Amino acid sequence: MIRFYNTLSRKKEEFKPIEDGIVKMYTCGPTVYDFAHIGNFRAYVFEDLLHRFLEFAGYRVIRVMNITDIDDKTIAGAIREKTSLSEYTEKYIEAFFQDMECLNLKKATYFPRATQHIPEMVALIKTLLEKGNAYRKDGSIYFKISTFPNYGRLSHYDFDKLLTSSTDADEYEKEEARDFALWKATKDEPFFWDTEIGRGRPGWHIECSAMSMKYLGETFDIHTGGVDNIFPHHENEIAQSEAATGKKFVNYWLHCAHLLVNGEKMSKSKGNFYTLRDLLKKNYNPGGIRYLLLTTHYRDPLNFTEQSLKQAENTVKNLNAFYQRLFFASSSEGNSNSNIEEEMNTSLEKFFNSLADDLNISAAMGEVFKLIHDVNEIFETGKLSKLFAEKIIYFMDKVNQVIAVIEPIKDTLPEEVVSLIRKRELARKEKNYSLADSIRNQLSQKGILLEDTPYGTRWIRK
Ligand code: AMP
Ligand code: ZN
Repeated sequence: MIRFYNTLSRKKEEFKPIEDGIVKMYTCGPTVYDFAHIGNFRAYVFEDLLHRFLEFAGYRVIRVMNITDIDDKTIAGAIREKTSLSEYTEKYIEAFFQDMECLNLKKATYFPRATQHIPEMVALIKTLLEKGNAYRKDGSIYFKISTFPNYGRLSHYDFDKLLTSSTDADEYEKEEARDFALWKATKDEPFFWDTEIGRGRPGWHIECSAMSMKYLGETFDIHTGGVDNIFPHHENEIAQSEAATGKKFVNYWLHCAHLLVNGEKMSKSKGNFYTLRDLLKKNYNPGGIRYLLLTTHYRDPLNFTEQSLKQAENTVKNLNAFYQRLFFASSSEGNSNSNIEEEMNTSLEKFFNSLADDLNISAAMGEVFKLIHDVNEIFETGKLSKLFAEKIIYFMDKVNQVIAVIEPIKDTLPEEVVSLIRKRELARKEKNYSLADSIRNQLSQKGILLEDTPYGTRWIRK
Protein backbone atom coordinates (compact mmCIF):
# COMPACT_ATOMS: atom_id res chain seq x y z
CA MET A 1 0.00 0.00 0.00
CA ILE A 2 1.29 3.46 -0.90
CA ARG A 3 0.59 6.30 1.50
CA PHE A 4 1.28 10.02 1.09
CA TYR A 5 0.84 12.88 3.51
CA ASN A 6 -1.94 15.00 2.09
CA THR A 7 -1.75 18.70 3.00
CA LEU A 8 -5.51 18.86 2.53
CA SER A 9 -6.28 16.42 5.37
CA ARG A 10 -3.00 16.83 7.29
CA LYS A 11 -2.80 13.05 7.39
CA LYS A 12 -1.08 10.21 5.61
CA GLU A 13 -3.64 8.72 3.26
CA GLU A 14 -3.66 5.63 1.11
CA PHE A 15 -2.89 6.63 -2.45
CA LYS A 16 -5.41 5.55 -5.06
CA PRO A 17 -5.29 7.15 -8.49
CA ILE A 18 -8.52 8.00 -10.28
CA GLU A 19 -7.68 5.74 -13.20
CA ASP A 20 -6.09 2.34 -12.60
CA GLY A 21 -2.40 2.29 -13.41
CA ILE A 22 -2.12 5.97 -14.34
CA VAL A 23 -1.12 8.90 -12.17
CA LYS A 24 -1.83 12.45 -13.29
CA MET A 25 0.36 14.94 -11.55
CA TYR A 26 0.97 18.69 -11.69
CA THR A 27 4.05 20.51 -10.48
CA CYS A 28 4.37 24.28 -10.11
CA GLY A 29 7.42 25.05 -12.23
CA PRO A 30 9.86 27.93 -12.39
CA THR A 31 9.29 31.61 -12.97
CA VAL A 32 11.88 32.18 -15.65
CA TYR A 33 13.36 35.56 -14.82
CA ASP A 34 16.70 34.20 -13.58
CA PHE A 35 18.51 30.90 -13.03
CA ALA A 36 16.73 28.57 -10.60
CA HIS A 37 18.51 28.28 -7.24
CA ILE A 38 19.07 25.05 -5.37
CA GLY A 39 16.17 25.85 -3.03
CA ASN A 40 13.94 25.58 -6.10
CA PHE A 41 15.75 22.40 -7.03
CA ARG A 42 14.96 20.91 -3.67
CA ALA A 43 11.32 21.12 -4.71
CA TYR A 44 12.04 19.71 -8.18
CA VAL A 45 14.20 16.87 -6.83
CA PHE A 46 11.44 15.90 -4.38
CA GLU A 47 8.98 15.89 -7.27
CA ASP A 48 11.41 13.81 -9.31
CA LEU A 49 11.62 11.28 -6.47
CA LEU A 50 7.84 11.11 -6.39
CA HIS A 51 7.67 10.71 -10.18
CA ARG A 52 10.35 8.01 -10.24
CA PHE A 53 8.87 6.15 -7.28
CA LEU A 54 5.43 6.05 -8.89
CA GLU A 55 6.98 4.59 -12.04
CA PHE A 56 8.95 2.14 -9.92
CA ALA A 57 5.61 1.11 -8.40
CA GLY A 58 4.37 0.38 -11.92
CA TYR A 59 2.29 3.46 -12.69
CA ARG A 60 2.37 5.42 -15.89
CA VAL A 61 2.91 9.02 -14.85
CA ILE A 62 1.42 11.86 -16.87
CA ARG A 63 3.01 14.96 -15.51
CA VAL A 64 2.71 18.66 -16.20
CA MET A 65 5.20 21.29 -15.10
CA ASN A 66 4.30 24.84 -16.01
CA ILE A 67 6.72 27.56 -16.99
CA THR A 68 5.72 30.98 -15.68
CA ASP A 69 7.01 33.24 -18.43
CA ILE A 70 4.92 36.28 -17.60
CA ASP A 71 4.75 37.99 -14.22
CA ASP A 72 6.04 41.19 -12.62
CA LYS A 73 9.65 39.98 -12.58
CA THR A 74 9.86 38.68 -16.14
CA ILE A 75 8.21 41.89 -17.36
CA ALA A 76 10.65 44.03 -15.35
CA GLY A 77 13.59 42.02 -16.73
CA ALA A 78 12.50 42.36 -20.35
CA ILE A 79 11.95 46.10 -19.93
CA ARG A 80 15.33 46.50 -18.25
CA GLU A 81 17.08 44.65 -21.08
CA LYS A 82 14.98 46.42 -23.74
CA THR A 83 13.98 43.13 -25.28
CA SER A 84 10.84 41.11 -25.93
CA LEU A 85 9.37 38.98 -23.18
CA SER A 86 10.04 35.75 -25.07
CA GLU A 87 13.64 36.66 -25.83
CA TYR A 88 14.21 37.53 -22.19
CA THR A 89 12.67 34.33 -20.80
CA GLU A 90 14.02 31.95 -23.47
CA LYS A 91 17.56 31.90 -22.07
CA TYR A 92 16.31 31.04 -18.59
CA ILE A 93 13.98 28.36 -19.94
CA GLU A 94 16.90 26.84 -21.80
CA ALA A 95 19.10 27.06 -18.69
CA PHE A 96 16.37 25.43 -16.62
CA PHE A 97 16.18 22.45 -18.98
CA GLN A 98 19.97 22.11 -18.90
CA ASP A 99 19.94 22.20 -15.09
CA MET A 100 17.19 19.58 -15.01
CA GLU A 101 19.24 17.30 -17.19
CA CYS A 102 22.35 17.90 -15.14
CA LEU A 103 20.51 16.81 -11.97
CA ASN A 104 19.01 13.81 -13.76
CA LEU A 105 15.47 15.10 -13.28
CA LYS A 106 12.87 13.27 -15.32
CA LYS A 107 11.14 15.33 -17.93
CA ALA A 108 7.50 16.14 -17.43
CA THR A 109 5.15 14.97 -20.15
CA TYR A 110 4.17 18.60 -20.82
CA PHE A 111 5.91 21.90 -20.05
CA PRO A 112 3.18 24.42 -20.89
CA ARG A 113 4.11 28.10 -20.91
CA ALA A 114 1.74 30.69 -19.55
CA THR A 115 2.08 33.00 -22.55
CA GLN A 116 0.97 30.16 -24.85
CA HIS A 117 -2.22 29.50 -22.89
CA ILE A 118 -3.91 32.89 -22.75
CA PRO A 119 -7.11 31.63 -24.51
CA GLU A 120 -7.52 28.83 -21.92
CA MET A 121 -7.12 31.34 -19.08
CA VAL A 122 -9.54 33.77 -20.69
CA ALA A 123 -12.13 30.99 -21.05
CA LEU A 124 -11.78 30.07 -17.39
CA ILE A 125 -12.08 33.69 -16.27
CA LYS A 126 -15.18 34.09 -18.45
CA THR A 127 -16.79 31.12 -16.72
CA LEU A 128 -16.00 32.61 -13.33
CA LEU A 129 -17.54 35.94 -14.38
CA GLU A 130 -20.65 34.17 -15.66
CA LYS A 131 -21.01 32.18 -12.46
CA GLY A 132 -20.65 35.26 -10.31
CA ASN A 133 -17.35 34.22 -8.74
CA ALA A 134 -15.43 37.07 -10.33
CA TYR A 135 -15.98 40.79 -10.80
CA ARG A 136 -14.48 43.58 -12.83
CA LYS A 137 -12.90 46.67 -11.40
CA ASP A 138 -11.05 49.31 -13.44
CA GLY A 139 -10.46 46.89 -16.29
CA SER A 140 -9.01 44.19 -14.03
CA ILE A 141 -10.89 41.07 -12.94
CA TYR A 142 -10.81 39.63 -9.43
CA PHE A 143 -11.90 36.41 -7.83
CA LYS A 144 -14.48 37.07 -5.12
CA ILE A 145 -13.40 34.86 -2.26
CA SER A 146 -16.67 35.28 -0.35
CA THR A 147 -18.43 33.30 -3.12
CA PHE A 148 -16.33 30.22 -2.38
CA PRO A 149 -17.17 28.91 1.10
CA ASN A 150 -14.42 26.27 1.08
CA TYR A 151 -11.71 28.90 0.85
CA GLY A 152 -8.91 28.18 3.35
CA ARG A 153 -9.42 24.41 3.40
CA LEU A 154 -5.92 23.62 2.15
CA SER A 155 -3.93 26.13 4.15
CA HIS A 156 -6.15 25.99 7.27
CA TYR A 157 -5.63 29.71 7.23
CA ASP A 158 -7.11 32.07 9.80
CA PHE A 159 -10.14 33.37 7.96
CA ASP A 160 -10.61 36.50 10.07
CA LYS A 161 -7.08 37.58 9.38
CA LEU A 162 -7.72 37.09 5.70
CA LEU A 163 -10.56 39.54 5.64
CA THR A 164 -8.17 42.35 6.31
CA SER A 165 -4.96 41.26 4.60
CA SER A 166 -4.19 40.96 0.93
CA THR A 167 -3.40 37.54 -0.59
CA ASP A 168 -2.10 39.05 -3.76
CA ALA A 169 0.88 41.33 -3.98
CA ASP A 170 -0.47 43.87 -6.42
CA GLU A 171 -1.47 47.45 -6.21
CA TYR A 172 -4.81 47.13 -7.97
CA GLU A 173 -8.08 48.08 -6.28
CA LYS A 174 -10.31 45.22 -5.14
CA GLU A 175 -13.63 44.95 -3.36
CA GLU A 176 -12.08 43.09 -0.47
CA ALA A 177 -8.44 42.99 0.47
CA ARG A 178 -8.32 39.20 0.30
CA ASP A 179 -9.67 38.95 -3.27
CA PHE A 180 -7.03 38.15 -5.84
CA ALA A 181 -6.46 39.20 -9.44
CA LEU A 182 -7.39 36.85 -12.26
CA TRP A 183 -6.71 39.37 -15.00
CA LYS A 184 -4.69 42.55 -14.71
CA ALA A 185 -5.54 45.50 -16.90
CA THR A 186 -2.29 46.82 -18.30
CA LYS A 187 -1.62 50.51 -17.95
CA ASP A 188 1.84 51.51 -19.13
CA GLU A 189 3.29 48.03 -19.62
CA PRO A 190 4.41 46.99 -23.09
CA PHE A 191 3.22 43.36 -22.75
CA PHE A 192 -0.49 42.67 -23.03
CA TRP A 193 -3.12 40.65 -24.88
CA ASP A 194 -6.28 42.02 -26.45
CA THR A 195 -8.96 39.50 -25.53
CA GLU A 196 -12.70 39.12 -25.03
CA ILE A 197 -12.30 40.09 -21.41
CA GLY A 198 -10.27 43.18 -22.22
CA ARG A 199 -6.69 44.25 -22.74
CA GLY A 200 -4.33 42.96 -20.12
CA ARG A 201 -2.37 40.03 -18.82
CA PRO A 202 -3.15 37.11 -16.53
CA GLY A 203 -2.65 37.09 -12.78
CA TRP A 204 -0.25 34.40 -11.62
CA HIS A 205 -2.63 31.82 -10.10
CA ILE A 206 -4.95 31.38 -13.07
CA GLU A 207 -2.28 29.84 -15.29
CA CYS A 208 -1.90 26.77 -13.07
CA SER A 209 -5.65 26.10 -13.01
CA ALA A 210 -6.05 26.58 -16.76
CA MET A 211 -3.02 24.54 -17.76
CA SER A 212 -3.42 21.70 -15.27
CA MET A 213 -7.05 21.15 -16.23
CA LYS A 214 -6.25 21.38 -19.92
CA TYR A 215 -3.71 18.55 -19.79
CA LEU A 216 -4.92 16.48 -16.84
CA GLY A 217 -8.67 16.99 -16.67
CA GLU A 218 -10.92 18.82 -14.19
CA THR A 219 -10.02 16.44 -11.37
CA PHE A 220 -6.58 14.88 -11.17
CA ASP A 221 -4.48 12.90 -8.71
CA ILE A 222 -1.51 14.83 -7.35
CA HIS A 223 -0.45 18.46 -7.14
CA THR A 224 2.94 19.38 -5.68
CA GLY A 225 5.04 22.39 -4.76
CA GLY A 226 7.03 23.91 -1.93
CA VAL A 227 5.25 24.84 1.32
CA ASP A 228 5.36 28.52 0.34
CA ASN A 229 2.96 27.64 -2.48
CA ILE A 230 0.21 26.41 -0.15
CA PHE A 231 -0.98 29.90 0.57
CA PRO A 232 -2.03 31.82 -1.36
CA HIS A 233 -1.12 30.13 -4.65
CA HIS A 234 -2.61 26.66 -4.22
CA GLU A 235 -5.51 27.88 -2.14
CA ASN A 236 -6.37 30.22 -5.02
CA GLU A 237 -5.93 27.48 -7.60
CA ILE A 238 -8.50 25.37 -5.74
CA ALA A 239 -10.94 28.27 -5.44
CA GLN A 240 -10.89 29.28 -9.08
CA SER A 241 -10.89 25.70 -10.45
CA GLU A 242 -13.61 24.30 -8.19
CA ALA A 243 -15.77 27.40 -8.53
CA ALA A 244 -15.60 27.02 -12.31
CA THR A 245 -16.15 23.26 -12.59
CA GLY A 246 -18.12 22.42 -9.45
CA LYS A 247 -15.81 19.42 -9.05
CA LYS A 248 -12.98 18.54 -6.72
CA PHE A 249 -9.79 19.88 -8.28
CA VAL A 250 -7.05 17.64 -6.82
CA ASN A 251 -7.12 14.54 -4.61
CA TYR A 252 -3.62 14.65 -3.07
CA TRP A 253 -1.59 17.77 -2.29
CA LEU A 254 2.09 17.15 -1.49
CA HIS A 255 4.39 19.95 -0.36
CA CYS A 256 8.08 19.93 0.48
CA ALA A 257 9.69 21.90 3.28
CA HIS A 258 12.26 24.53 2.43
CA LEU A 259 15.93 24.37 1.86
CA LEU A 260 17.55 26.63 4.45
CA VAL A 261 20.89 28.35 4.72
CA ASN A 262 21.87 29.10 8.30
CA GLY A 263 18.29 28.48 9.35
CA GLU A 264 16.78 30.87 6.78
CA LYS A 265 14.88 30.04 3.58
CA MET A 266 17.15 30.23 0.56
CA SER A 267 15.61 32.79 -1.74
CA LYS A 268 16.58 35.30 -4.31
CA SER A 269 15.15 38.21 -2.36
CA LYS A 270 17.36 37.38 0.65
CA GLY A 271 20.46 37.11 -1.53
CA ASN A 272 21.54 33.94 0.31
CA PHE A 273 21.25 31.61 -2.61
CA TYR A 274 23.34 29.34 -4.80
CA THR A 275 22.37 28.40 -8.27
CA LEU A 276 23.34 24.98 -9.55
CA ARG A 277 25.89 26.76 -11.73
CA ASP A 278 27.51 28.40 -8.68
CA LEU A 279 28.08 24.98 -7.16
CA LEU A 280 29.40 23.44 -10.37
CA LYS A 281 31.86 26.32 -10.67
CA LYS A 282 33.12 25.37 -7.24
CA ASN A 283 33.74 21.89 -8.65
CA TYR A 284 30.94 20.13 -6.85
CA ASN A 285 29.45 17.36 -8.94
CA PRO A 286 25.80 17.04 -9.96
CA GLY A 287 25.40 13.55 -8.47
CA GLY A 288 26.39 14.82 -5.02
CA ILE A 289 24.04 17.80 -5.28
CA ARG A 290 21.19 15.57 -6.38
CA TYR A 291 21.87 13.12 -3.57
CA LEU A 292 21.95 15.84 -0.93
CA LEU A 293 18.64 17.30 -2.10
CA LEU A 294 17.10 13.84 -2.37
CA THR A 295 17.98 12.22 0.92
CA THR A 296 16.45 14.50 3.52
CA HIS A 297 12.79 13.58 3.88
CA TYR A 298 10.80 16.02 1.79
CA ARG A 299 8.71 17.28 4.71
CA ASP A 300 11.77 18.09 6.84
CA PRO A 301 13.65 21.34 6.33
CA LEU A 302 17.05 20.77 4.73
CA ASN A 303 19.85 22.91 6.09
CA PHE A 304 22.32 23.32 3.26
CA THR A 305 26.05 23.41 4.03
CA GLU A 306 29.04 22.76 1.81
CA GLN A 307 30.19 20.18 4.32
CA SER A 308 26.99 18.19 3.89
CA LEU A 309 27.44 18.48 0.14
CA LYS A 310 30.93 16.99 0.42
CA GLN A 311 29.53 14.11 2.47
CA ALA A 312 26.85 13.51 -0.14
CA GLU A 313 29.49 13.46 -2.87
CA ASN A 314 31.43 10.89 -0.93
CA THR A 315 28.39 8.66 -0.58
CA VAL A 316 27.71 8.87 -4.31
CA LYS A 317 31.33 8.00 -5.00
CA ASN A 318 31.04 4.94 -2.76
CA LEU A 319 27.82 3.82 -4.40
CA ASN A 320 29.47 4.05 -7.80
CA ALA A 321 32.60 2.24 -6.61
CA PHE A 322 30.44 -0.55 -5.21
CA TYR A 323 28.57 -0.84 -8.49
CA GLN A 324 31.78 -1.06 -10.49
CA ARG A 325 33.11 -3.68 -8.14
CA LEU A 326 30.08 -5.84 -8.85
CA PHE A 327 30.76 -5.72 -12.55
CA PHE A 328 34.26 -6.75 -11.93
CA ALA A 329 33.18 -9.67 -9.75
CA SER A 330 30.57 -10.65 -12.27
CA SER A 331 33.12 -10.85 -15.01
CA SER A 332 35.14 -13.56 -13.24
CA GLU A 333 34.38 -16.88 -11.66
CA GLY A 334 33.78 -17.11 -7.91
CA ASN A 335 32.32 -19.59 -5.46
CA SER A 336 28.65 -19.42 -4.90
CA ASN A 337 27.64 -19.26 -1.27
CA SER A 338 25.63 -17.42 1.35
CA ASN A 339 21.98 -16.49 1.58
CA ILE A 340 22.60 -13.09 0.02
CA GLU A 341 19.91 -13.68 -2.57
CA GLU A 342 17.22 -13.95 0.06
CA GLU A 343 18.59 -10.87 1.80
CA MET A 344 18.56 -9.01 -1.49
CA ASN A 345 14.89 -9.79 -2.13
CA THR A 346 13.97 -8.67 1.37
CA SER A 347 16.03 -5.50 0.96
CA LEU A 348 14.29 -4.64 -2.29
CA GLU A 349 10.92 -5.16 -0.67
CA LYS A 350 11.89 -3.00 2.29
CA PHE A 351 13.32 -0.34 -0.01
CA PHE A 352 9.98 -0.20 -1.80
CA ASN A 353 7.92 -0.27 1.40
CA SER A 354 9.93 2.57 2.95
CA LEU A 355 9.31 4.75 -0.09
CA ALA A 356 5.68 3.70 -0.13
CA ASP A 357 5.44 5.17 3.36
CA ASP A 358 5.33 8.82 2.29
CA LEU A 359 8.70 8.61 0.49
CA ASN A 360 10.80 7.67 3.50
CA ILE A 361 14.07 7.87 1.62
CA SER A 362 16.35 7.58 4.67
CA ALA A 363 14.86 4.23 5.65
CA ALA A 364 14.99 3.12 2.01
CA MET A 365 18.68 4.02 1.69
CA GLY A 366 19.35 2.40 5.08
CA GLU A 367 18.28 -0.91 3.48
CA VAL A 368 20.58 -0.35 0.54
CA PHE A 369 23.61 0.41 2.72
CA LYS A 370 22.99 -2.63 4.89
CA LEU A 371 23.02 -4.89 1.85
CA ILE A 372 26.11 -3.17 0.45
CA HIS A 373 27.89 -3.75 3.73
CA ASP A 374 27.07 -7.46 3.70
CA VAL A 375 27.97 -7.90 0.04
CA ASN A 376 31.27 -6.12 0.60
CA GLU A 377 32.11 -8.53 3.40
CA ILE A 378 31.60 -11.48 1.07
CA PHE A 379 33.49 -9.72 -1.68
CA GLU A 380 36.54 -9.32 0.58
CA THR A 381 36.65 -13.07 1.18
CA GLY A 382 36.71 -13.71 -2.56
CA LYS A 383 33.51 -15.73 -2.46
CA LEU A 384 31.09 -13.57 -4.37
CA SER A 385 29.96 -15.65 -7.30
CA LYS A 386 29.32 -14.27 -10.71
CA LEU A 387 25.68 -15.22 -10.49
CA PHE A 388 25.16 -13.41 -7.19
CA ALA A 389 27.04 -10.35 -8.34
CA GLU A 390 24.70 -10.17 -11.29
CA LYS A 391 21.72 -10.32 -8.99
CA ILE A 392 23.10 -7.52 -6.87
CA ILE A 393 23.65 -5.51 -10.04
CA TYR A 394 19.96 -6.02 -10.75
CA PHE A 395 19.17 -4.78 -7.23
CA MET A 396 21.34 -1.69 -7.65
CA ASP A 397 19.80 -0.98 -11.04
CA LYS A 398 16.35 -1.08 -9.45
CA VAL A 399 17.46 1.24 -6.66
CA ASN A 400 18.99 3.54 -9.22
CA GLN A 401 15.70 3.86 -11.07
CA VAL A 402 14.68 5.92 -8.05
CA ILE A 403 17.87 7.58 -6.80
CA ALA A 404 19.50 8.06 -10.21
CA VAL A 405 23.03 8.83 -9.02
CA ILE A 406 24.84 5.69 -10.21
CA GLU A 407 26.56 6.06 -13.54
CA PRO A 408 26.12 3.26 -16.05
CA ILE A 409 29.30 1.34 -16.82
CA LYS A 410 30.34 2.48 -20.26
CA ASP A 411 33.99 1.65 -20.30
CA THR A 412 35.01 -1.31 -22.43
CA LEU A 413 38.48 -2.34 -23.47
CA PRO A 414 39.73 -2.75 -27.01
CA GLU A 415 39.84 -6.38 -28.12
CA GLU A 416 43.64 -6.32 -28.35
CA VAL A 417 43.93 -5.33 -24.66
CA VAL A 418 41.42 -7.98 -23.59
CA SER A 419 43.44 -10.67 -25.34
CA LEU A 420 46.66 -9.44 -23.68
CA ILE A 421 44.99 -9.71 -20.26
CA ARG A 422 43.85 -13.25 -21.06
CA LYS A 423 47.32 -14.19 -22.27
CA ARG A 424 48.81 -12.87 -19.02
CA GLU A 425 46.30 -14.80 -16.88
CA LEU A 426 47.24 -17.96 -18.74
CA ALA A 427 50.94 -17.23 -18.23
CA ARG A 428 50.31 -16.81 -14.51
CA LYS A 429 48.45 -20.11 -14.33
CA GLU A 430 51.39 -21.75 -16.04
CA LYS A 431 53.69 -19.98 -13.60
CA ASN A 432 55.45 -18.19 -16.45
CA TYR A 433 55.95 -15.06 -14.35
CA SER A 434 58.47 -13.37 -16.63
CA LEU A 435 55.97 -13.41 -19.53
CA ALA A 436 53.20 -12.27 -17.17
CA ASP A 437 55.35 -9.33 -16.02
CA SER A 438 56.28 -8.29 -19.49
CA ILE A 439 52.60 -8.26 -20.52
CA ARG A 440 51.82 -6.19 -17.44
CA ASN A 441 54.42 -3.63 -18.56
CA GLN A 442 53.11 -3.65 -22.07
CA LEU A 443 49.59 -2.89 -20.77
CA SER A 444 50.88 -0.24 -18.42
CA GLN A 445 52.34 1.56 -21.42
CA LYS A 446 48.87 1.48 -22.94
CA GLY A 447 47.49 3.15 -19.78
CA ILE A 448 45.95 0.01 -18.27
CA LEU A 449 46.87 -0.96 -14.72
CA LEU A 450 46.30 -4.50 -13.48
CA GLU A 451 45.44 -5.72 -10.00
CA ASP A 452 45.37 -9.43 -9.16
CA THR A 453 42.51 -10.31 -6.79
CA PRO A 454 40.66 -13.47 -5.70
CA TYR A 455 38.30 -12.90 -8.65
CA GLY A 456 41.02 -12.78 -11.20
CA THR A 457 42.70 -9.79 -12.70
CA ARG A 458 41.03 -6.42 -12.42
CA TRP A 459 41.95 -3.60 -14.74
CA ILE A 460 41.66 0.14 -14.31
CA ARG A 461 42.67 3.04 -16.49
CA LYS A 462 45.63 5.09 -15.25
P1 AMP B 1 9.30 30.06 -7.79
O1 AMP B 1 10.18 30.10 -9.02
O2 AMP B 1 9.68 31.02 -6.72
O3 AMP B 1 7.84 30.08 -8.13
O4 AMP B 1 9.55 28.64 -7.10
C1 AMP B 1 9.50 27.42 -7.79
C2 AMP B 1 9.38 26.27 -6.82
O5 AMP B 1 10.47 26.24 -5.89
C3 AMP B 1 8.12 26.34 -5.95
O6 AMP B 1 7.57 25.04 -5.85
C4 AMP B 1 8.63 26.82 -4.60
O7 AMP B 1 7.80 26.37 -3.56
C5 AMP B 1 9.98 26.16 -4.55
N1 AMP B 1 10.95 26.84 -3.66
C6 AMP B 1 11.34 28.14 -3.67
N2 AMP B 1 12.27 28.38 -2.72
C7 AMP B 1 12.48 27.19 -2.08
C8 AMP B 1 13.35 26.77 -1.00
N3 AMP B 1 14.19 27.58 -0.40
N4 AMP B 1 13.26 25.48 -0.62
C9 AMP B 1 12.44 24.59 -1.25
N5 AMP B 1 11.63 24.93 -2.27
C10 AMP B 1 11.63 26.21 -2.69
ZN1 ZN C 1 1.31 26.88 -9.70
